[in-house]
Amino acid sequence: MKRPLVAGNWKMNLNRIQAITLAAQVAQQAVHWPTVHVALCPPAVYLDVVGQVLRNSPVALGGQNAHWETAGAFTGELSPTMLVDVGCVFVILGHSERRQHFGETDEMVNRKVKAALESGLRPIVCLGETLQQREEGQTQEVIRAQFAGSLADLSLEEIRQVVLAYEPVWAIGTGKVATPQQAEEVHALLRELLRNKYNEATAQAVTIQYGGSVKPENAAELLSQPNVDGALVGGASLKAQDFLRIVAAAHAVLEEE
Ligand code: PEP
Repeated sequence: MKRPLVAGNWKMNLNRIQAITLAAQVAQQAVHWPTVHVALCPPAVYLDVVGQVLRNSPVALGGQNAHWETAGAFTGELSPTMLVDVGCVFVILGHSERRQHFGETDEMVNRKVKAALESGLRPIVCLGETLQQREEGQTQEVIRAQFAGSLADLSLEEIRQVVLAYEPVWAIGTGKVATPQQAEEVHALLRELLRNKYNEATAQAVTIQYGGSVKPENAAELLSQPNVDGALVGGASLKAQDFLRIVAAAHAVLEEE
């Protein structure tokens, strides 16, 4: 495994004090596992204050969404340059909750990915099938379509800045985790799609995270899969000890290799 990326997606949770406390706990402890790249993605309103807590720590800051324009009449939206301004390195784009509840399409995600890259952010682009799609045997087709649409027209240099997150929709927040084999199957497909579109070196350079009910108890097995390069963690990132145990598991897997 390359240097793993373990990112916490706090979604629409926590208040200001809780956000500061959690970020401080993660920042203090993360120094013990320098082999792991750690990032926290708080709600937008807390990005600035969490960014201040993470300053001078090895933990990176990420947004949960960004618009494709850099400024203008888009009430309620945030531009990628604003995220950079408060210290973000990453931005989650195309999360299934945004696709499901806010109508984001692959085309919209693609515009956002390009704008984020242009602003110097590293997009964490989420892809994944629903339960119905999996049961109807459409997983590969869905992943291929999301890959082609969300990542259209990216140069070799650009795709190397992108992190892919395979997040089966049926595993997000449900406690139903993909088996390591199910995860590896899709991760290997994503690696193949990268290889076919770019080249072997680029395919190997791109970080592919797994997300969907990752917990301290299942992290090591998932992260041991050859094409799993990290985790995007929702629920378990809201408790410092759980999140840090996942970071520790990534470190342990790397050490064993
Ligand atoms: C997520 O929202 O990206 C996620 C993976 O959530 P959870 O870990 O709670 O399933």
